[in-house]
Amino acid sequence: MPGARLIILGRQGAGKGTQCVRLARHFVVPHISTGDMLRAAVRERTPLGLVAQQVMDAGGLVNDETIVGIVEERLGKTDAATRGYILDGFPRTVRQAESLSQITTDSPIHVCIDLDVPREIVVERISARRVCRDCGTNYTSRGDDPSPWICDVCGGDVSQRADDTPEAVNRRLDLYETQTAPLIEYYGELGQLAVVNGVGHPDNVFKRLTDVVESRR
Ligand code: AMP
Repeated sequence: MPGARLIILGRQGAGKGTQCVRLARHFVVPHISTGDMLRAAVRERTPLGLVAQQVMDAGGLVNDETIVGIVEERLGKTDAATRGYILDGFPRTVRQAESLSQITTDSPIHVCIDLDVPREIVVERISARRVCRDCGTNYTSRGDDPSPWICDVCGGDVSQRADDTPEAVNRRLDLYETQTAPLIEYYGELGQLAVVNGVGHPDNVFKRLTDVVESRR
């Protein structure tokens, strides 16, 4: 049966993005990634994009009020309001989570999944991550990147994200521990949390995720 209202938490590089795309297809719901929305705003040079770019490049967090406004607007659209959604990269702070709880009082989320991958593993994965600037397909660098690197899917430019440098990655992971990890307790206290082991073959991780969602909807 399609439809679900989910939050996927997890360190950057835990494989969240890829799993969210699969989950969105499986449950036929929109995948709402605040990072993707911000990157689109940066590309389109909107006022939000201009502010967000500096914060993102430095590995910081865009302010809560701005992000909550964007998400509230998105959740109000017909697809999300009727079928549900997968939130990827939001909430990232307890304040964002509190706002989300208020926004969704009438239709609360089914489950918040913490996709758990240890820090050492994600640092390795993100440092090798390369992304197509046009279609977002992810690639893994083996240290001998072709130049230029052309995307197999759309022919776009494949490069390292500006915020995937070791400094920015470590800053994001520190922010995750201080700002986002407290959400595990927040959703645990609400009885809405499920922890899923994110280490292993992506197909196995996907099965663990769908099992959890099926048991909570
Ligand atoms: P992501 O693609 O989820 O790794 O997000 C990329 C960057 O966008 C983050 O490092 C933040 O700078 C910003 N960002 C995305 N989502 C949020 C959020 N919920 N709150 C604050 N900043 C965010």
